[in-house]
Amino acid sequence: QGAIAFKDVHFHYDPDRPILKGVSFEVPAGKTVAVVGPSGAGKSTISRLLYRFYDVQQGSITIDGQDVREVTQKSLRAAIGMVPQDTVLFNDTIAYNIRYGRPGASDAEIQQAAEVAQISHFIKDLPEGFDTKVGERGLKLSGGEKQRVAIARTVLKAPPILILDEATSALDTTTEHEIQSALDIVSKNRTTLVIAHRLSTVVSADEIIVLKGGEIAERGSHTELLAQN
Ligand code: ADP
Ligand code: ADP
Repeated sequence: QGAIAFKDVHFHYDPDRPILKGVSFEVPAGKTVAVVGPSGAGKSTISRLLYRFYDVQQGSITIDGQDVREVTQKSLRAAIGMVPQDTVLFNDTIAYNIRYGRPGASDAEIQQAAEVAQISHFIKDLPEGFDTKVGERGLKLSGGEKQRVAIARTVLKAPPILILDEATSALDTTTEHEIQSALDIVSKNRTTLVIAHRLSTVVSADEIIVLKGGEIAERGSHTELLAQN
């Protein structure tokens, strides 16, 4: 479920400046493909096109053979879970923020998702800076903790497709390792598109695509790419 195919995708925000110039790749159902490349190469644009924040100007993007332009926004967003670079939290408890992944979820399910993300100890707290009610303490969340909230949300949502957009780039090495193992659990058997800065963070991807100048410059496994460079 959730096989992704980009076919000859062309995209620009500004007609004078093409961002993607004929990009084709597939993410077979249940596999993980990573997109790496220098800053500004168009990596995040790829995830935004899949999520249909924007539409391609030429070529197509399909999920299980169906063009994303023919899928309703609602079912597209239900099928895709996104762990973004910077998670914006709602002015409510962490539990509420996790429930956002699937509004119908029970307390037990939220607890379970929080455990996978290792934040079950503070799900009743409120993020710092938000309106704390009398007697409640505001919690200062680090970047890593916000990532965990996004991960818990995604665990709860359990979508067939996952987009990890530089999900561990802002973190220190120890936190990065911990988050990475939580992400490994979440992405197991899901079609996963990882947007990454560095080759070293995507060792286990089934395929790595190197984006340069709007085109795929190289592709292969981590070992293959290391051998070429
Ligand atoms: P990456 O994720 O590889 O760093 P992005 O996909 O975010 O690259 O951006 C690719 C290029 O498109 C960058 O030069 C960026 O400045 C430009 N860009 C991104 N978003 C917009 C936008 N909304 N409008 C205009 N240009 C944009
Ligand atoms: P929902 O799944 O409830 O419809 P959104 O579609 O608004 O939520 O956002 C899904 C995720 O994508 C959020 O985590 C948000 O941070 C991120 N996001 C929202 N807008 C953009 C954008 N223009 N570019 C990149 N990421 C975005």
